[in-house]
Amino acid sequence: PAPANLRAKFLREFQHMGSYQYLEPRLLMIGRLLECLRRMGVFLSAQGPVTVDGFRLKNLSYWARYHCETVMGSLGCLSGYCNARCEFCFRYGSMFQRFPHRILCRSEARTRLKYYDPEAKKGLPYPVDDTGEIFLNRALLEILRAVRARAPEALIDDLTTHGNFLDAETVRRLAELKPVFVVISLNSADPALRARLMRGGRDEVGIRAFSLLREHGIPYIGSIVPWPTIPLEDVENSIRFLDAAEAYLIRICLPSFTRHSHPTAPFKGWEHWEKLGAMIERIRPELSTPLLIQPSWYLRREIRAHVDGVIRNSPAFHAGLRFGDVILSVQGKAVLTRQDAAGELVRRRRQGRGARLMILREGKRRRVDLAEDLRAADDCYPYKPAGYQPDPRMLFGIHFIDPFPLDSVVAMARIIREHPEARRIAVMTTVLGEGLFRKALGLLMQSPGFNLPLRKIRVTVAPHRHLGGNIVVGDLHVASDYIEHLEELRRLGYRPDLVLIPSSFTMGEWGLDALGRSYLDIEREIGCRVELVPTRPVKM
Ligand code: SF4
Repeated sequence: PAPANLRAKFLREFQHMGSYQYLEPRLLMIGRLLECLRRMGVFLSAQGPVTVDGFRLKNLSYWARYHCETVMGSLGCLSGYCNARCEFCFRYGSMFQRFPHRILCRSEARTRLKYYDPEAKKGLPYPVDDTGEIFLNRALLEILRAVRARAPEALIDDLTTHGNFLDAETVRRLAELKPVFVVISLNSADPALRARLMRGGRDEVGIRAFSLLREHGIPYIGSIVPWPTIPLEDVENSIRFLDAAEAYLIRICLPSFTRHSHPTAPFKGWEHWEKLGAMIERIRPELSTPLLIQPSWYLRREIRAHVDGVIRNSPAFHAGLRFGDVILSVQGKAVLTRQDAAGELVRRRRQGRGARLMILREGKRRRVDLAEDLRAADDCYPYKPAGYQPDPRMLFGIHFIDPFPLDSVVAMARIIREHPEARRIAVMTTVLGEGLFRKALGLLMQSPGFNLPLRKIRVTVAPHRHLGGNIVVGDLHVASDYIEHLEELRRLGYRPDLVLIPSSFTMGEWGLDALGRSYLDIEREIGCRVELVPTRPVKM
């Protein structure tokens, strides 16, 4: 057992096995085996019987095998706690609340960094937790310094904060760790409204933080949740505030709630989203900062390479590219989708070259030349402040909404070909994805190589019964949503013999949903074959 004087520390640093069940259920299995052993007898040390209430992994090199896109991602959640109580917080009634929240401690951070392999982008498994306020972690700056020592040139991102701890001294210390990138909540630029909405205190500090970040050359995404208790004019003012403060992007999360977070719906139907959408479309041409609307397919259901905005001071900005342009070709090569365009732009950038675009603007074709990207010394805030490496994934500053996953439709076609015996095929999609999906199917049908048996396919949307509320994002489905929907279809006389579901509702490589249930349960309960179609999660 932990020595008595260190017991509290050990308990703080323990992790609940359940929070690993999505990424690595084998840890649960090890825990259960140990529990069986524990029940069979007594563990003894030289001093006498010991209470066994946990275990630690040996041979961490073996366990360092989980994909972590960035060095920050290898740390997992920095803080599971938050001191604000936003009216709209996704944490109320969250699916992960069954496990105690944690704050990442220094020693665990050091171990995680030690075992992170930046080349292979692999690290230790991390527990799933709701992200809270990172500056509640008193060791945060020390952990970030350790990250900087481990990866001297890496961008320190994944820093999401409500900003109320970002006073002048904290921002100055953060700036010493550049390149860093922050996502910070504004919600309202009016301190009184912000205080009423977020209930976290220190709202003046939170609002002042935006200009401090600008002064110190730290780029940031400013975030707004236009909750219905905030007047529409205030939402517009807040967007203009972030535009004037030179945000990298302005993220607008269309208000969502679940039946767990809000047992009584705070608003009904699409009316609030429609009003917001109309206001956003009206002011967008006047802004110099791209808007990132989430879910991104609400306002624009488009497969083509539609430019959704241009980052200030980027090559695309200086070349005059603007919101609404559609990219037809890159360097003479036709591009059909955003994925195609992004792939070509990344290729050009990796070669250290500019790009010649053919675009469609107001029905006319035009040529736009993007200059080669910037050098590390160039100071082009917020696109690439001095000392930041230009990143090919920044696409010369072109902002696209989430690409439609055409490759998922191609994968779906492959799976269907592998099951020629299937006579009725149900394909699950989402409210927002359904129209796009049908468009993509139509496009693929024009290609003789695909030859899909369309008359056998039924495209269908499973309601979000578990979360309820106004949730529309498919990644937030759980296995029981699909089971109940398929049972409902069966009652109506439709019995598929093959069901295709986007894989993005599962986590990790074990095919488990956010409640820890395997997608194979759908197959067991419904009694027909279920296949996951590889699909990337949408940006949230
Ligand atoms: S700041 Fe974020 S995590 Fe904290 S209460 Fe608000 S929404 Fe929730």
